[in-house]
Amino acid sequence: MGTALIYDEEMTSYKLLWDDPECEVEVPERLTVSYEALVRSGLADHCVSIPVREATEEEILLIHSEEYLEKVKKTPHMSVQELKDFALQFNAVYFHPNSYHCAKLAVGAALQLVDHVLMGKVRNGMALVRPPGHHSMRDAACGFCTFNNVAIAAQYAKQKYGLKRVLIVDWDIHHGQGVQYCFEDDPSVLYFSWHRYEHSIFWPHLPESDYDAVGKDKGVGFNINVPWNKVGMTNSDFLSVFCHVLLPVAYEFCPELVLVSAGYDSGIGDPEGEMCATPDIFAHLTHLLMNLAGGKVCAVLEGGYNLTSLSQSVCQTVQTLLGDPNPRPENLRSPCQSALESIHCVRWAHRRYWSCLGHAADLSSFQISTKPSGSPKEAGESTWKDKVAVVWPEPVKRVAPPVRTAALLSDEAVCPEGCKRLATSDKLDPRVAGKLRENFLEGEGDSEALSALSGLITLTEKMEKDEILNGLAVVRDITMATACVVQHVTMAPNNRVLVVCVGDGEAPSNITEDRKALVVRIGSRETKQSKCKNDIPVCLKKGCADVSGVIQAVFGLLLPLGYEFDPSLVLLVRMPGSEVSDGVWQQLTGLLQCLAQGHVLVLIQECEKSCVSPTACSLLGEPAPPLGQLQAPLPQDVEDMERLRRKLLADWTLLQTTAADTGKRQEL
Ligand SMILES: [Zn+2]
Repeated sequence: MGTALIYDEEMTSYKLLWDDPECEVEVPERLTVSYEALVRSGLADHCVSIPVREATEEEILLIHSEEYLEKVKKTPHMSVQELKDFALQFNAVYFHPNSYHCAKLAVGAALQLVDHVLMGKVRNGMALVRPPGHHSMRDAACGFCTFNNVAIAAQYAKQKYGLKRVLIVDWDIHHGQGVQYCFEDDPSVLYFSWHRYEHSIFWPHLPESDYDAVGKDKGVGFNINVPWNKVGMTNSDFLSVFCHVLLPVAYEFCPELVLVSAGYDSGIGDPEGEMCATPDIFAHLTHLLMNLAGGKVCAVLEGGYNLTSLSQSVCQTVQTLLGDPNPRPENLRSPCQSALESIHCVRWAHRRYWSCLGHAADLSSFQISTKPSGSPKEAGESTWKDKVAVVWPEPVKRVAPPVRTAALLSDEAVCPEGCKRLATSDKLDPRVAGKLRENFLEGEGDSEALSALSGLITLTEKMEKDEILNGLAVVRDITMATACVVQHVTMAPNNRVLVVCVGDGEAPSNITEDRKALVVRIGSRETKQSKCKNDIPVCLKKGCADVSGVIQAVFGLLLPLGYEFDPSLVLLVRMPGSEVSDGVWQQLTGLLQCLAQGHVLVLIQECEKSCVSPTACSLLGEPAPPLGQLQAPLPQDVEDMERLRRKLLADWTLLQTTAADTGKRQEL
């Protein structure tokens, strides 16, 4: 199952024909540079190329009115003056004699992508299109958009394939008000948008772009707006919104298809967005969506006006869709006050609609700002040229190791298809062997145990050298194996290990003392938090069999902790008798690959061999199966997790969900 790439040079065949400072950033080169970057990097070669087609009138009418379509149909025959006059009816739009043709291709490209993904011909994909779509409304063009490509795609997927739940993630820096208007009363489409807002100072200046526009009638709760009230938002701000707003809600919703309104004006250097998120963040945003809907993710280009930032970000997205390992997240620090305020407001506004947000903090005791802070900008103070003159390092080339998944198994076990079997090692450096004996085998000469541990060490070393991306090992003594890996890996000065223990059982003690390991234990056993701050027990009343509880812990605690800790290796440890379902286990295995450049090592005890095959699938990059619409987590668990989160705030800034949390951090 591959990744589709849809592009046609034909969509560069229209441009602005008169002077209009508002529209001059929307140029044909946006498409050509993006596509050329994909070709140059070799990514285009790895994609399945799918031809575009023109959308039919019937398809356009899924969202737009006949009257509007008839008007646009006349544009190919208009003079420049007539086009100019026609465009003036709308907000921030221009037309060209080829606009109509290209707009039909843009819709058709989105529909081709949806068809190929939903028919199972490809797993996921991206459509590079012009004109963009998310501002366009039933009766009107708006903001460079003619037809609403993604809204039509959502409606088409519902109608043609009978889908009941579609998620639209709009990470463009403008509010896709057109999409919101289409689906605000429709509970089958969950629309999420973050956008530069600055308390409505920023275009399109709509009150309904604010956090309290949550949808209407039956669709109440299915429209999520995260307004950015300041410019300069960073990777941390974006990730925090994903972990604390979008992902828990998306998992509760359980979409059958994810459409991304993939605008890159939210990236650094963009003259429209003026944000500071670097191109690599789009690898993470993409990855975090790829275990939803069985991996059916369709990204459709919207905005993006800094050609360098745009093309780099498009490459990051496509490379992640292809399944290549993510870069280590860069520059993560505390989300800013303004972002936290927005997160707080959105969580509060939606807490009555989504059980995962049911515990969100009150707004009443909190003074929210209603005006942009800082002095208002003088008009013309910073020019378009200043805004795009920002520089940032080129993203590091992401190279996939030659072997994706290695397996360390007993001789009689069958190696899962696609994995490379590693032999347990007999030829061991005598010094390492001596150390292993001394530390773990109490001097006894059990050669079988010794060669199993040395096999593990060989595996971690190959991962460190990027010869192998990830791996799984079936071990006899999981506590000893965990301790052995952590001890060996953390000997190197810059290494850090995130240990995720699933289920109760004897987790190794004393491995976190030098803080180069962070242990998060998810289980049912009430354990006192050890004195070491890096040993974090998350207790769920029903243990890991409780799907909603585990998912709540993953987004509220585990992923933010993981991102902030930024490990070089993730060790996922399945304790015997954990009762975790295959589905949840695969979600965990899939999601954790966003960390440590995808270096995830899974340890499984011999008695749990049945999970080897689903584990291997996830490590090989197969999306996890959907978990179904989630029930509310147990109130007691939520309360306990919230207490734990507050306790951890002093050390972990990405756990913040309100601006008030920063105050708490300072008090501590
Ligand atoms: Zn935009």
